[in-house]
Amino acid sequence: MMDSHFTAVRETRVKQPLIERFRAYLPVSDKTPVITLQEGDTPLLRASNLERHLARVAGRSLALEVHLKYEGTNPTGSFKDRGMTMAISKALEEGTRGVICASTGNTSASAAAYAARAGVPCFVVIPDGNIAMGKLAQAVMAGARVIAVRGNFDRALELVREAAEKRSITLVNSVNPYRIDGQKSASWEIVDSLGDAPDFHFIPVGNAGNITAHWLGYRDYLQRGKSGKLPRMMGFQAAGAAPLVDGAPVAAPKTLATAIKIGNPASWDGAIRARDESKGRICKVTDDEIIEAYKLLAGLEGVFAEPASAASVAGLLQLVSRGEMPREGVVVCTLTGHGLKDPERAIQSSLPPRVVEATLEALSGELQS
Ligand SMILES: *Cc1c(COP(=O)(O)O)cnc(C)c1O
Repeated sequence: MMDSHFTAVRETRVKQPLIERFRAYLPVSDKTPVITLQEGDTPLLRASNLERHLARVAGRSLALEVHLKYEGTNPTGSFKDRGMTMAISKALEEGTRGVICASTGNTSASAAAYAARAGVPCFVVIPDGNIAMGKLAQAVMAGARVIAVRGNFDRALELVREAAEKRSITLVNSVNPYRIDGQKSASWEIVDSLGDAPDFHFIPVGNAGNITAHWLGYRDYLQRGKSGKLPRMMGFQAAGAAPLVDGAPVAAPKTLATAIKIGNPASWDGAIRARDESKGRICKVTDDEIIEAYKLLAGLEGVFAEPASAASVAGLLQLVSRGEMPREGVVVCTLTGHGLKDPERAIQSSLPPRVVEATLEALSGELQS
C-alpha cells in the first residue's frame, strides 16, 4: 500500500526527458535508446525590470512584453544539451564507436556528459587558450579526451569534420542534423508557454545552428496548428565576429564572448533563411554592449548568463535605443548559457569586495545602502 502510494507521488514529479516530451516531432523510434540528463523545460521569465529599463532607454512609454528563455538551467548549463540528447541517442542507435566535436566550450561540456552517460568515448578539440575554465572543467571531469589545437574554432571544426570521416566516429557538432532537431524544442516550449509564438525572437549567433533550429521549430509548430503566427528572428553576432552581417567569413574573429567567437558559421545558409523568411535581422553588438547587458541581466533580473548569452539582450537594448523596435509586442530573448561557466569574466567586470576589520563597527559602516 505504502509503496504504491509513494510510487504514484514520485511519478508525477519526475521531469520527462526532452525526447519523450516531444517524441511525436522528433526522428526517434522504439529502437532509439534515450540518453538523457533531463534537459529542456527551462524557465521562461517575464523581465519586468528590464522592460522598465528599456522604456527609460527609449525615452517613451513602451508596451513591449519581454521574456527571457534561460537555457543556463540545462543539465550542463547551456542549450547544447537539447541537441546533444538527440545526437548521442541517435549515435548509439546507429552503433557508434565514439563521438568527436570541435568546441568553444559548451558543446564539449555537453558532449562529454552525454557520452559518459552513454558509455562511449568522447574526443573534443578546442582552440587553445580560448575557452572558459568552467567549460573545460566539465569536459575533463566527464572523462573526455581534450585536445587543444593552436588555431581558432573554425580550424578546429575543419579538423574534426575530416577526422570523424577518416576514423568512423560520430561528429556531434551542429552540422549533425540531430543536434538541430533537438534544439528546435526550445521554440516549441516557448509556444507551449505563451500560447502562441512571440512577435520577435532575439538570439545570439555563433555557428548559427541555434537560430536555424529555432526557425525550423517555429515553422513546424505553425504547420501543425500549434501556433497561429511566426516570430521575426533577430540574430546578434559580436562585432569582431560578425561574418553574417559583413557577408564574408572573418579570418581572425575577436570577442570576449568566446561562445560566439566564430568566423565562418557552419549553418550560414540556415541563418540567412531564418532572417529572410521571418523578415528578421542579423546585426552586431560590441563587446561593451555585451558586457553592459550581461551586468544588467544579473543586476536587474537576478539572471546570471554567460557573456555570449547576453548578446540577445544587448541587441534588444541597441534596437530600442535606436528607435528601431515597435512600441508594443511580445519579445523572447534566448539566454544561451549559465554565467557560472566563466566566473573570471564576472569578477573582472565588477568591483572587488570591500575588506574591513572583523568588527561590528567596521561592518556597520559598510551597510549604508
Ligand atoms: C553555442 C553557443 C552559442 C552559439 O550558438 P550557435 O548555435 O553556434 O549559433 C551562443 N551562446 C552560447 C552560450 C553557446 O554555448
